[in-house]
Amino acid sequence: MKNLKLASGEKGDRTIVKVSNAEIGRGFVVIAGPCSVENERQVLETAHAVKDAGADMLRGGAFKPRTSPYAFQGLGLRGLKILEKARQETGLPIVSEVVDPRDVSWVAEFADVLQIGARNMQNFSLLKEVGRAGRPVLLKRGMHSTLEEWLNCAEYVLSEGNPDVILCERGIRTFEKYTRNTLDLSAVPAIKELTHLPIIIDPTHSTGRISLIGPMSLAAVAAGSDGLIIEVHHKPEEALCDAEQALTPDMFIDIMGRLKALKSFLDNQAS
Ligand code: PEP
Ligand code: MN
Repeated sequence: MKNLKLASGEKGDRTIVKVSNAEIGRGFVVIAGPCSVENERQVLETAHAVKDAGADMLRGGAFKPRTSPYAFQGLGLRGLKILEKARQETGLPIVSEVVDPRDVSWVAEFADVLQIGARNMQNFSLLKEVGRAGRPVLLKRGMHSTLEEWLNCAEYVLSEGNPDVILCERGIRTFEKYTRNTLDLSAVPAIKELTHLPIIIDPTHSTGRISLIGPMSLAAVAAGSDGLIIEVHHKPEEALCDAEQALTPDMFIDIMGRLKALKSFLDNQAS
């Protein structure tokens, strides 16, 4: 891809993004937590549950880009303070979305990884701002975007001096309606051919169906993904956002067990 000066695969060594003890691009990293931060109890209970199940990082949105302006928009600063408390209690680094370039510098004081959502993938002023924020960036693929467009967005971040970009495939729009989006698993090996940046899979927003999250998580491991980001809620029936696709802690424990078994099977085959 001719416009890629920094993201291109020809650059040689693969990028490993370090976030506390987690290394994205080496091993397999699992980010889990609620869609949005709703209250302290919800976040702390969920954070402890995912930590106990073996998650490496905690996710949670304090700014929610919603289809309707009347839907819950997130708690903002109050939400980030709750996430900070969860990090203190569990030690899990925080992944949280930023939606406005004006908020980047202060959100970066709370979040260990700045998430750019699918709807903002091509928000170029936001990309430049996170490129200067001194924090790793989780760049989700836009729901209508080609791999080339996506990698050019990564290039925006890299070209501002930030080498720590993690790509996240979260499903693209197709004519299929049974699933929320269509998970493009082929993006994993394709991205590995095209760039040195790590890529993770979001089996939650791509399928929108609890029953499909486990199988797609296992498929992500088999495809060579560097990790997963999954929504878990301590009481999904009470979730203010994406309730229908949040796993209970028990479901998450079950998936983590199967992931571990598959990982060790594949590692043994390789060695
Ligand atoms: C999210 O991860 O909370 C989210 C809104 O995802 P996406 O941007 O992929 O829709
Ligand atoms: Mn969500």
